[in-house]
Amino acid sequence: MFDALKEKLSAVFSKLGSKGKLSSEDIDSAMRELRRSLLEADVDFRTAKDFIARVRERASSAEVLQSITPNERISAIVYEELITLMGKPAPLIISPKPPTVILMAGLQGSGKTTSAVKLARNLKGSHSPLVVACDLRRPAAVEQLRVLAEGAKVAFYGPEKPGDSDVLKVVRGAVKFAEGHMNDVIILDTAGRLHIDDELMNELKSIAEVLPPHEKILVVDSMAGQEAVNSAKAFHELLSLTGLILTKLDGDARGGSALSIRAVTGIPVKFAGVGENTDALEVFSPERMAGRIMGMGDIQGLVEKVKSAGIAETEIKSPGKIAKSFDLDMLLKQFEALEKMGPLEKIMGMIPGMDKIKGFKAEDADTNALKRSKAIIQSMTREERRNPKIIKGSRRRRIAEGSGTSVQSVNQLLAQYEQMKKMFKSFTGSGGSRRLKSLFGFGR
Ligand code: GDP
Repeated sequence: MFDALKEKLSAVFSKLGSKGKLSSEDIDSAMRELRRSLLEADVDFRTAKDFIARVRERASSAEVLQSITPNERISAIVYEELITLMGKPAPLIISPKPPTVILMAGLQGSGKTTSAVKLARNLKGSHSPLVVACDLRRPAAVEQLRVLAEGAKVAFYGPEKPGDSDVLKVVRGAVKFAEGHMNDVIILDTAGRLHIDDELMNELKSIAEVLPPHEKILVVDSMAGQEAVNSAKAFHELLSLTGLILTKLDGDARGGSALSIRAVTGIPVKFAGVGENTDALEVFSPERMAGRIMGMGDIQGLVEKVKSAGIAETEIKSPGKIAKSFDLDMLLKQFEALEKMGPLEKIMGMIPGMDKIKGFKAEDADTNALKRSKAIIQSMTREERRNPKIIKGSRRRRIAEGSGTSVQSVNQLLAQYEQMKKMFKSFTGSGGSRRLKSLFGFGR
């Protein structure tokens, strides 16, 4: 998502960049384009207007206009204002006195049931969550929650007999069950509806009376655009929500709801759903979102992936070493690590600067390409891997044959290697080590 917006913003900034010193007309026209891009991304009209007003005010200061790189200054302002727009991160409320009760509400199809299990799975490291099936109207909904919970190895509680329709009995039963099984977080998957109606609201209210929730989370489908924002407003009026989970942010939604839902409703987005699997949930981070929109990579996301793939932090801690000793053996190791980290297209998109490498397209980073690249390096001698400069014509032909690829593929891999080496080099020199470390989130 955000791809269209990202491209448009990048066009606005590069246009500004070609101008040298900026006049107030340049700012006007850039702001008009910026506003149009936001509206096309489905950002709410008022939110876009206020946003532009803030950016315009800051961008029009003499200090910015007279700087040597006004476009960079303005892009930094937009980045900061995007973060402000999405609000301060709001962590999940965990009650000091267990159990923490989380009520999940949402329209049918929003991803509520999946998100209930995702959230439980996310909490599993530090808590013992229990998911509870409270959508008794549809037996299939109970079954779906049970199956997802089982797959994610999360504790499940549901009606004793199929066909039970007393939701309050299930809620009371769940509290007893949680006590007996030491579950300190109870996640209630409530009934979904196609539209908000009184019956649903009354049911949610009566559940909240029997078991007052610490969190009332609405699950919202980001693909629904402004509709999502409107339904959040309606639920909020009736339920006083404490947080939102925006789902399907991995899809091709234009992203406007992610940008404006907090500004419009005042409810913080706590998590983002980024896939169908129960592990595809991210803590919602305004910095990360803004970084993605501005094409700055997703360092935070990358660091989380790196850590979960078990790649030693020390490898990242010494950028100087990387730059000096970056050879094809290291590249091979990186490829192997990448393979462990999951869908490559996602990972590559997270690396800052990757979109600037000539000819690189995230969608090209398919698993076959990775296997090919590995085979190419594996067909090289030790000497060649350490000192790629010696790989000339006849060696390239031999490597292509040995790896079952073509000379062109070998050339491509070597060119990629050279570009990556250059990228690492840009982090050496004065302050470079600190910059790379802070980029990866380790120390200062
Ligand atoms: P519910 O009716 O609100 O309980 O919705 P479900 O949890 O059954 O989800 C509806 C559909 O959306 C299912 O096919 C889910 O796999 C899918 N889904 C849920 N969250 C996400 C997400 O973050 N990304 C993607 N791509 N699909 C999702």
